[in-house]
Amino acid sequence: MAEFKIEEDGFSAKRLFTQGFSYTYDDLIFLPGYIDFAADEVNLTTKLTRNIELSIPCVASPMDTVTESSMAVAMAALGGIGIVHYNNKAEEQASIIRNAKSRRIPLITDPIFISPTDTIDSVDDFYCSPYVFVTESGNSNSKLLGAVGVSEWERLLDKTTVVCEYMSESRITAPSSYTFEQAASALVAKKLDYLPLVSEEDGHVVDLFTTADYERIRNAPELGLPSLGADGEFMVGAAMGTREDDKRRLEHLVKAGANVVVLDSSQGHSIYQLEMIKYMKRTYPEVDVIAGNVVTMNQARALIEAGADGLRVGMGSGSICTTQEVCAVGRGQAIAVYKVSSVAAQSGVPVIADGGIGNSGHIVKGLALGASTVMMGSFLAGSNEAPGRYVSQGGICVKKYRGMGSLEAMTKESAARYLGEKAKIKVAQGVEGSVADKGSVLKYIPYSMQAVKQGFQDLGATSIQSAHNLLRSGALRLETRTAAAQREGGVHDLVSYKK
Ligand code: 5GP
Repeated sequence: MAEFKIEEDGFSAKRLFTQGFSYTYDDLIFLPGYIDFAADEVNLTTKLTRNIELSIPCVASPMDTVTESSMAVAMAALGGIGIVHYNNKAEEQASIIRNAKSRRIPLITDPIFISPTDTIDSVDDFYCSPYVFVTESGNSNSKLLGAVGVSEWERLLDKTTVVCEYMSESRITAPSSYTFEQAASALVAKKLDYLPLVSEEDGHVVDLFTTADYERIRNAPELGLPSLGADGEFMVGAAMGTREDDKRRLEHLVKAGANVVVLDSSQGHSIYQLEMIKYMKRTYPEVDVIAGNVVTMNQARALIEAGADGLRVGMGSGSICTTQEVCAVGRGQAIAVYKVSSVAAQSGVPVIADGGIGNSGHIVKGLALGASTVMMGSFLAGSNEAPGRYVSQGGICVKKYRGMGSLEAMTKESAARYLGEKAKIKVAQGVEGSVADKGSVLKYIPYSMQAVKQGFQDLGATSIQSAHNLLRSGALRLETRTAAAQREGGVHDLVSYKK
């Protein structure tokens, strides 16, 4: 056999990232490795922080259009985690956490409640949901009386009729402690369209288990183990700021059972954050702290030295973010993840690649460049589990998605993240918009994880740790893509196509 002379092919990350370019995910492409295992053998078990393990590397971002109770429950059920936002009063945030932790089924609790004397004037009052529920006081904290289905309402001739005159009564309920199997068998056995889950204490509606939930959960592909805390409840994270009164918020979060707390700042290398990390580690040593956001090695070192158990990486990478335009500060997400991870790995602190995830390829890139998990906003917004209602926009169902530094979001608590302690004039670092209905995360996260496994297989990495080993040893080779290569890497030259 002839002996081949193989020149150096591609670049190691170390070499590629010392050329002075602020590379992001789309600039880069990995060269394939050697496969001697099946994609299903890839293990995506990972670490969120020093002490928290997850079975999938997915984290829902602390944004008020992404993570409240339903998202947190769904992410934990999938083996990831949701971080509940803090664009609200501390008591409200704590109650979202308690609600998520008390639930056992990943349901979508955004049912629409009205009172018996209300009328339904237009199909828009259903907000793309199949039912409107009628309770004594018109909200969820009250006794359920009945429900109106869209088809029932469409058949109604006089739309000024009050709902109690034509609603169907809800006589059958089940305790909120029911598991999916128990609720599913009750729904099927009694041939119901929905089963209200009520509090055993006061009979108030806690959740509604509908046939749509049944189908959504039953048809969801199985992933790894759910994320459960030592108490057997779903793991839920919470975000907070670094102001003095955030110490009071922290007390609420810890009492509500938050498993991890994220210090939410767009520029985490500040005296406020360093002091807060130290305070948290002194006061609640049992609660892991994720610090950030950072993009440089120096920032990373400072937060780790202060006691951070995890680091969140990204400045200006978010889809709704205008920080780089407004402030001229930030970094391309690929190089930021690589640089921060190379410092964090030295002390065993896991890194979260936050923002800029638009497809499963971006998840592979974030993880293979050194992150242990990815945090997603737009990827999860628009799902059934995201807060807010669907509205019809130009014939498609959409949900609102907005930056926490957008003017609209900053009318509430989130101003501190982007404006600091004392700013009087509000300059936005984010936008507000909408994203199309994506269906349930219970379906598309498993699908995305399968795609990630295939990516890892192509790299020749059987796990996230093994990808990190390939990265650090220089065996993982990569290159930048020219604009033409990026065009070629996407779908091209077709008149039309379906995804
Ligand atoms: P996405 O997944 O949509 O690309 O990015 C989500 C991330 O963007 C969040 O986790 C957070 O770090 C960041 N982010 C959220 N809201 C804003 C904002 O208004 N401005 C900026 N600069 N970043 C934001």
